[in-house]
Parts: sequence; structure tokens; C-alpha cells
Amino acid sequence: MTLEKSQLHELHWIMEMLHNIDVGLVVLDKEFTIQIFNGFMENHSGLFPREVKGKLIFDLFPEIPREWFTRKAESVFLLKNKAFTIWEQRPYLFKFDSYRPVTGSEELMYQNTTFIPLLSATGEVSHLCLIVYDVTDTAVHKLSLKKANAELALLSQTDGLTQLFNRSHWEQCLLAEHKRWSRSQNPSSLVMIDIDHFKNINDSYGHVVGDKVIRHISGLIRHHVRETDVCGRYGGEEFAILLSDTNLENAFIFAERLRKEVSEAIVTYNDINVKYTISMGIAEVDESIETHEVWIECADAALYRSKETGRNKTSLHPKQTK
Ligand code: GH3
Ligand code: MG
Ligand code: MG
Repeated sequence: MTLEKSQLHELHWIMEMLHNIDVGLVVLDKEFTIQIFNGFMENHSGLFPREVKGKLIFDLFPEIPREWFTRKAESVFLLKNKAFTIWEQRPYLFKFDSYRPVTGSEELMYQNTTFIPLLSATGEVSHLCLIVYDVTDTAVHKLSLKKANAELALLSQTDGLTQLFNRSHWEQCLLAEHKRWSRSQNPSSLVMIDIDHFKNINDSYGHVVGDKVIRHISGLIRHHVRETDVCGRYGGEEFAILLSDTNLENAFIFAERLRKEVSEAIVTYNDINVKYTISMGIAEVDESIETHEVWIECADAALYRSKETGRNKTSLHPKQTK
């Protein structure tokens, strides 16, 4: 074989390889018309190379944001440097369906792309090559890991029986609210709740009924609060609600509404009907409450007063009684 002939063969093989390689290859000129379009692009777009040759890329693929793409490509032409896009920032450049059986649940193909300046024999960059990588597998794994981690984080903050925040997470929220108050001085009130004579409920009807009562009060709390309020299960049958942007008077109105609704409700389990009541203590944050722990103590002292004076009551922090 002559040298020329063997070089021709090599060129032909290289062309074949580029056509069949499992990444997308597109060559564009400075006007953004397509010059080369390989098999990967043909398979995923359904367009033949002869159909796309000489056509404007934006006309064939309207999903490509023209202004953004032009800016990116022009810097490649000008600086003769590569440029990249990654799926985390832009999920895809070409809107292709995802065919991978493993990742069948994902509808679109996630892509990373590289923009390569193509130097002519005279050192000019008159064309650029887009390399399109299908990274759907990586993206799907990373996204599902992220989702699982978020679910795990939520789980670690949540009380299993009531789906309210657990004590440690709720206390962190209270700490944050106390810090926020130090800066903003917006009113904020803390309501502590304890079910009255809960031991009797457990003793008379069993723990399953006791649990149902705990879930009942949790449901009512959730129903009464605003989205910005922070509710937690503080202990067995004790709950804590942080009412942001709420002064003592309004917190009292909130608590009394909840208390009355509880006292009128009936929790049923098979043929058992249970009535129960709650006692509450409220403290609004002020200068004398220097830490979130003191805030809890103040609301607790108010709760203790409700218990002492007959239960089924709402009391204010002794120093704040108006
Ligand atoms: P008081 O009116 O003074 O609050 O009386 P009480 O009986 O409610 O007081 P206490 O705090 O002594 O009793 C709470 C009981 O709650 C004791 C415990 O067995 C029960 N308890 C704690 N956690 C759970 C739970 O998750 N499920 C059930 N069913 N009972 C629980
Ligand atoms: Mg208790
Ligand atoms: Mg109790």
C-alpha cells in the first residue's frame, strides 16, 4: 500500500470512529450553521447529517438559548480556549430523550458539553466543535442521593409518632429565633403544652389509646398554627410551639382557642371515647430573657402555674402577667 493510500485509509477509519463514537460531535462555523453532525447526534435527534448541514443550529434546536450560547461560543472563537457546560448548571444543551434502560425513569438526557476551538492551517479559529456527553447515569445517581440525604435530614429532625419536630431540632429553632429576636426585636412567644392527667389515660385505656391522644393534640396544633410557627414534641405528652411575630396577648388568644377545642373534642378508639384537657404556659421573649434556655424556663413556670391552679388553663409567665 502506498503511503498516500494508507493515510487515506486512516482518515477514513477516523471518520468512521467519530461517526460511531458514543458522544455527540457537532462542528459549527462562525455563523452557527452546522458543518458536521455525527451518528450519536443523528440517533438522538432523529435528523440525518445531510438534513442539518448548512442549517442554523438555533432553528433546528430551539431549546438552545441563543444569546447565552452566542456569548459562550464567541469567547471560544476569540480566546481560542475551550469552554464547558455541566448538567448541574444546565441539565442539557440538546433536548434529547433518555433511552438508557437503567435510568428509564428519567425522561431527558442530562449532558455535559465541551466547546473546542478548531484551528485552521493558518492558525485562525473559524469553526468550533461541540462535544456532547450523555451523563444521565451520573446525574440520576447524584440526584437520588441528594434526595435521600434530604429525606434523611428531615427524618432526623422529626418525631416519629407526631411528625412534629423532635426536641433537639425544635430547641435549635428556638435558639435561632432568640438570636433573630436580639437583632430584630420583633415580638415572639413561646407556648408550652402538657396534657392533664395523661397517666390516667394510659392506665385506664392503655398506651395505644394514649398514643392516639398524643397524635390527636399534634393534629390540632398543626391545624391551628401558621406556616412560620415552629412546633415540637418536647417530651412524652409535652409540646412546645414557637409563635413568631406574635406578642403575649395574641399568643394567649391562640392558646385559649386550642385549649377550648381540645376540651370539646372526643378521641375515639373502637368503642372507647376519651375526653382530655391540656394546660399551657406562655412567655414572650424580652430583655430579661437572655438565653433560649431561660425562655423555656419562663414558659415552663407559667405552665406549672396552670397545673397548680386547677389545670385546663392557660397562664402567662409570672413576671409578664398583665
Ligand atoms: P399532669 O396533669 O400533672 O401533667 O399529669 P400527667 O399524668 O400527665 O403527668 P406525667 O407527666 O407525670 O405523666 C406523663 C405520662 O405520659 C407518663 C408516661 O408514661 C406517659 N408517656 C410518655 N410518653 C408517652 C408516649 O409516647 N405514649 C404514651 N401512651 N404515653 C407516654
Ligand atoms: Mg408531663
Ligand atoms: Mg401531663
